[in-house]
Parts: sequence; structure tokens; C-alpha cells
Amino acid sequence: MGQPLYRIPKPDLEKCGIDLSQISPAERQDLENTNNFAQFYATDFIHAFRSLGCGQKIVWSHELYETGKMDDLIRLALDQVQALKKIYQEVAKYQLPENWYPFQVICPVCGKIGTTLVTAWDGQEVTFECQENKVSWAKGCGYKAKISPFGGTGKLLWKVDWPAHWAALGVNVEGAGKDHSSAGGSRDMANAECQQVFHIPVPFNIPYEWILIRGAKMSSSKGVGISAREFSKLLPPTVGRFLFASRPYTQVIDFDPGTMAIPDLFDEYDQGAKIAWGLEEGDQRLARAFQLAQVAQVQPTSFLPRFRDVVIWMQDPELNLETEFAKVKKAPLNDIEKALIKERRGYAEIWLANYAPSEYQLRPKATFPVEAKILSNEQKKFLRDLQILLANNENLPAATLQQKIYELAKNSIGAKKAFESIYLLLLGKKAGPRAAWLLRATSAELLASRFDDLAKLS
Ligand SMILES: [Zn+2]
Repeated sequence: MGQPLYRIPKPDLEKCGIDLSQISPAERQDLENTNNFAQFYATDFIHAFRSLGCGQKIVWSHELYETGKMDDLIRLALDQVQALKKIYQEVAKYQLPENWYPFQVICPVCGKIGTTLVTAWDGQEVTFECQENKVSWAKGCGYKAKISPFGGTGKLLWKVDWPAHWAALGVNVEGAGKDHSSAGGSRDMANAECQQVFHIPVPFNIPYEWILIRGAKMSSSKGVGISAREFSKLLPPTVGRFLFASRPYTQVIDFDPGTMAIPDLFDEYDQGAKIAWGLEEGDQRLARAFQLAQVAQVQPTSFLPRFRDVVIWMQDPELNLETEFAKVKKAPLNDIEKALIKERRGYAEIWLANYAPSEYQLRPKATFPVEAKILSNEQKKFLRDLQILLANNENLPAATLQQKIYELAKNSIGAKKAFESIYLLLLGKKAGPRAAWLLRATSAELLASRFDDLAKLS
């Protein structure tokens, strides 16, 4: 604690907290190639936005300092400490102590930066001490000395460091989360420093709203939010970009993957596409968002397989997605459309496995569903008869099997109660896809164990 993050070793891959099953071999290699803690976690984040087709050049702050690109700005800030103090006072109403300087030294003895305090500046060197009890979360070593502030021996304090970066890099547009733009906040301070200390034009501001996941800020802490990486796995890059491009940046995006938000977003994307292609009338902003959402090249006019149809149909073992969508299109599918079905199927699998409301889950549950406990005695009797029917008709085609089940139902408890019992036993719900196909798609082991559990139910 207290050391600059870029000087802390990277964590073991196995203990880093990143879900390694979600990363590609190339991404894993990138993580293994990092040199420190900061670079390690930044790389994970960079992967997430690279997947959205963003190709920014990455500038590492500590390299700016080490290569001397901040030196002139450090000198300006130290020379004009009185002007800075006045800004802190006037903009943020913050009274600074007498011996305050906008610079923190990395202690050459213990390596900590959080524990050091600069107490003087003579135009060549700063005087500093590494204080034992400056902060509660780290202990300093007590070392006192003079050191040149240039070439990476320390860094400017964050509220001065931010505009100094704009000066060093020639930034003319700078967005940040809206919390930075509150009155008297870091953005107001930085703007004043641009004008009064660094003498550069104030960059154009884009104070953007937050993205919330189920009402919580994005974070990797389990159960609350979601990391950028997890978010990027929920949607294809095009649809992910569409989400950002279609909402005003001043509007909060509250996204709950456990609702119909994902299927709805796909529908909206498809609508934007149809408007952009001139196939439908509608809101031109949606069309523009669709265009901006394209990653590699603009998608040519094609038939779009509806996401929620993919979700339902792919769970029906009788249906072939390409055949079904060709029927909807009323024409054979081209390669782009087939690839799109494959892509959407992949995201549908993720949604189904992790987030989809239960009415969209049409596959047998892995364990005995609690809902099946409401089965009546006559339904249990029907299921025992069904077990015998299945045992005697192992190789029957699904269509013929369906007919046999129907006959068994009609001659005992009636079709409604009978099929309901099958769905309760396999899915834990009262309705589902056609029973024979569902049974055929269920593995023999799972079916056997399910009937065993049923027998144990008194
Ligand atoms: Zn120290």
C-alpha cells in the first residue's frame, strides 16, 4: 500500500480475479506479458473496449513522467504554487496549508508515494519527507531529503496532474463522468488551471452520464455490478456500440440483462438497420446509431434474424434455425445472414445460461425442479406410464412418439394435465416446446435420474 501501481508486481493469473474462461488465448498472453499491476488490470479493460472496435493509442502516464514530457509543466506548477492555491481556494473553497506543493515524491528509500509530503521548492529541487503517519492505509519510512522533481521521481497531485496532461498531450476534447463536472469539482479546477497556470485553451467538455447495471455502477465486485469485460460479452460489438450511440450521453443507461433489455435492444438495432437501409420509415436517429455502431465495415442490406426467435427456436430440437429463418425471409439465406444467425445464437446461449427470465428457458433443468413437487398423484401415475412407453419405444421418431404420448394422455388424465406434468418434471414450468422433441433432446442419463427422483417423491 502506498506505492505507485505501476511499480507493484502483477498478480498471479490464477488469483487475479478475472474470469479466465472468458478470455481468448491471445488476451491471456497479453496479460502474461504485462510488467506490473497497473498494466495488468488496464490491459483487461483495454481488451474490453478493443472488442467494441475502439483502437485508441494508449499513453501511460508514468512514461510521460519518466521521459521528461511533464518536466516543464512540473516546473510551471511548482513555480506558480501561489496561483494554484488561489484556484483551490476560489473554485473549490479549499484552504491549503502554508507548506503545500502540488507534487508528490516517490520515496527513494521505501518506494511509497502516498506517504510523502513536499515542504519546499528552491527552483532546482523539492524538499520532502516520507511521513510515518501521513495516511492511515500506509506507513512511511521517515526519510527526509531533497530531490529533483523531474524525470519520473514523483508526480503532480491529481487535480493538477489532469490539466497538465492536457497541456502535455495537446488535448482539445476531454470527456469524463459527470461526477467530475459538479460545481467546484475537479473539472472546474482544471479549467481554471488551464487559464491561469498552464496557459492553454480549455478542452471541450463532454460530461457523460453513467452506465448502470441493475441500478449499480459498473464494477467487478460479485453480485452487484458487472465488469467492462462481462458487459462486452453480453452483446455483439455492433449491438454494444448501438447501445451507446443510440442514447444521449447525458442520459443514464440503466441496463439489466436479467430483463428483456437484451432482446429489446436487438429489436431496436434491427429497426435502426431497416430505417438505414430504407426498408422502413422511422426515427432517423436510430438509423444513424445503427451506422455508427458498425465496427469493421458497414453491414450491407440483409435479412436480420430476430434475437428472441433465435432464443426460442434454438431450444426446440426439431427446428433448424437456418430453415426457419429462410421461411420468415421467404427466400434462401445468404452467407452474411447465416453468419448473423450463428453470431446471435452465441449471444442467445450466453443470455439463456446466465440472465434470461425463466419463461425463456425451455431446456431441461439439470436437477429436479422444485416446481415439480406440485405434481398430483394422477400426474405421477401418468409419468410412470410415460416412462414405460419411452422404454418400449426407444427408436421411435419424434413425430410418432408425440402421437403415442397424446394417445396415452387422452386415455388417462387428458392432454392438458399430461403435458403439464412432462413440462413440470423436465423444465419446472407448466408449458414448453413439443413434448416428444423435448424428451428426445434430453439425455438418457438425465431422464433416468429424473424418473428416479420422481419415484422417491412420496
Ligand atoms: Zn519512505
